[in-house]
Amino acid sequence: MSYIDEIIQQVIEKNPDEPEFHQAVREVLDSIRVIVDANEEQFRRDALLERLVNPERQIKFRVPWIDDQGNAHVNTGYRVQFNSAIGPYKGGLRLHPSVNIGIIKFLGFEQIFKNSLTGLPIGGGKGGSDFDPKGKSDREIMSFCQSFMSELFKYIGADTDVPAGDIGTGAREIGYMFGQYKRLRGVFEGVLTGKGLAYGGSLARTEATGYGLLYITDALLRDHNMSMQGKVAAVSGAGNVAIYAIQKAQQLGAKVVTCSDSTGWIYDPDGIDVALLKDIKEVRRARLTAYKEARPNAEYHEGKGVWSVKCDLALPCATQNELTLDDAKQLVANGVIAVCEGANMPTTEDATKFIQEKGILFIPGKASNCGGVATSALEMSQNSERLSWSFEEVDAKLKGIMENVYKNISAAAKKYGMEGNYVAGANIAGFEKVLSAMNAQGIV
Ligand code: NDP
Repeated sequence: MSYIDEIIQQVIEKNPDEPEFHQAVREVLDSIRVIVDANEEQFRRDALLERLVNPERQIKFRVPWIDDQGNAHVNTGYRVQFNSAIGPYKGGLRLHPSVNIGIIKFLGFEQIFKNSLTGLPIGGGKGGSDFDPKGKSDREIMSFCQSFMSELFKYIGADTDVPAGDIGTGAREIGYMFGQYKRLRGVFEGVLTGKGLAYGGSLARTEATGYGLLYITDALLRDHNMSMQGKVAAVSGAGNVAIYAIQKAQQLGAKVVTCSDSTGWIYDPDGIDVALLKDIKEVRRARLTAYKEARPNAEYHEGKGVWSVKCDLALPCATQNELTLDDAKQLVANGVIAVCEGANMPTTEDATKFIQEKGILFIPGKASNCGGVATSALEMSQNSERLSWSFEEVDAKLKGIMENVYKNISAAAKKYGMEGNYVAGANIAGFEKVLSAMNAQGIV
């Protein structure tokens, strides 16, 4: 059995009940076969892959908090510090009832290569809790966030591990966590990113993941002699990534006709009204039924359905494994040109394979959504030099980073004879830098 297959088997055996983690490892290792096979003897001797797939550290803790009625609840908190070969651990905190150690490990593993692709000095980590922020009052959110940080603060710091937002963790949650960290440590430092502008946040961080997704999609289309102008796009999700993806797609001349949340989806033939969507999701924190009420021409449907709409571009921006093989078949039958992932691993393995086999352009999340973490790293730089850059400066840097990511993944795929396979390109380009740093630092 090849070294890679042995490791995949080991990961499955040693980490049972963690299918998302298995999926992420399989996808990355399959893509780097060409490098591993050529160096098998040395990699085996150095246990390179064992060190790659085992987190440097996993922290799991109890998070007790008290609701508005005075009742105590207990959630589980996690932080997985996966790989610090190229810089301090960096990766978001997910607050969602579906969170478990396997989900956090899949996200942390992906983050290693994503962070490497940005070209910035950040290692891979991820964390979160099975706490559900939905329906909680501000006081309850604060109670949870303070308790969560009362444990997490022991393990993080501006030069060791810098968490950020993710599903369920937005500016409000980051604010409460930052306040508690500062109180416990007595230090005002850039320990979290996604902070408010009044206390060290970066302009354009809120927009960065969605904007970055569109910058790379635009670069992809231009490279294939097409443009965003006049394209019809389907977007899933209605959170941070989706909202700013829709906004930038519209600025670049596309028409976005869908968005969704966990209960239903919207089809708006006139194009999504972003200002309305922002008001519903960022201010009122309401459901998408409120969109339909304000836009009678739009349709609201319960459940899933975004991928049944005819579109040129499919941009999944909600959550993992939301675009299945059936969805992919429908998209291809409807003539989709490109699928670019805004969320982490939103396309299932068989759907990804199908899309690639049909010759549809496909960029995986670790490349196409890395604008968020890249801008988080820019926030860290601004915090370190105690300066704030203008929106235009950060946005221009983000655009440059995304264009470079596209060039690098494209070149890596070509170099190894897989031209146009951006999944392989992203994994190889991300892996090469981490490999070189791991080799230089010895067996640690
Ligand atoms: P948000 O919490 O802001 O939004 C998530 C959106 O997806 C919401 O509309 C939510 O609906 C929907 N959603 C979440 N879970 C499910 C589910 N199980 N089924 C259907 N819909 C669901 O998160 P973000 O926009 O920040 O993150 C979206 C994705 O992008 C995630 O995969 C995240 O890891 C990834 N990502 C985010 C980055 C960032 O900077 N924010 C950076 C890089 C990647 P509802 O509100 O009803 O739950």
